[in-house]
Amino acid sequence: MKKIIFAFVALASLLFASCSKSSQVVKMGTNAAFPPFEYTEGTEVVGFDVTVSNLIARDYGKQLQVVDMSFDGLIAALQAGSIDFIAAGMTATEERRKNVDFSEPYYSSKQTIIVRSDTNTVSSVKDLAGKSIGVQSGTTGEIYATEEVEKASVKSFKTGIDASLALKNGAIDSIILDELPAKEIVRRNPELKIIDDDFFTDEYAIAVKKGNTELLNSINKTIQTIKENGTYQKLIDAFMPVDGEITILSADEL
Ligand code: GLN
Repeated sequence: MKKIIFAFVALASLLFASCSKSSQVVKMGTNAAFPPFEYTEGTEVVGFDVTVSNLIARDYGKQLQVVDMSFDGLIAALQAGSIDFIAAGMTATEERRKNVDFSEPYYSSKQTIIVRSDTNTVSSVKDLAGKSIGVQSGTTGEIYATEEVEKASVKSFKTGIDASLALKNGAIDSIILDELPAKEIVRRNPELKIIDDDFFTDEYAIAVKKGNTELLNSINKTIQTIKENGTYQKLIDAFMPVDGEITILSADEL
């Protein structure tokens, strides 16, 4: 009998431990190949979205767990419940709104073109007609290149960084990618350059599972608070310097 009671107590405490552990954690899904929003520094995932998510978690009373996965798998992971929200420089598109609920937008971006520095035939997106364009799989850049650029041969990569390797070795002619990750790629690769052409704007927002209004309201409150109390500007200044290297500002420093 004693043994049975012991086993029962052990099992109950195990169950309790696993339940309370999972309820103390809020999981952010992201794709850590999108600097300055999310990228890896050693084994750690850092970036603007990670710090904002830590502030979200703090306000929500939970510990943040970052789950790094491919960008095109994020919405399915959210729907399956393996993550609680997506913070991944994700554009709040009408198409995605059918499957997720978005927070208020937290950053305005645009798509840009990257070519090799010695390319002088491209001065706007129209010049990409008939060329090969590298994009990140599942992104607005991929949709734009596929639907709007005439006769383009669109090649999808897991990350913009993978696309940049293909561009450097001549496998593709160009890349369509969000502005800041594109700038960061070019900053690290002087043999590449950006073509300035305003052809598509993106409003980044955080996604939650449809109907998860409790978390969504909390996220919106955090976004509003950091915009009002100056924290948001501090993050912009650190992670998005006009020139030079990113400074990582963690939530503990705020
Ligand atoms: N903003 C783009 C999109 O939402 C790209 C995001 C990303 O690659 N992380 O599709």
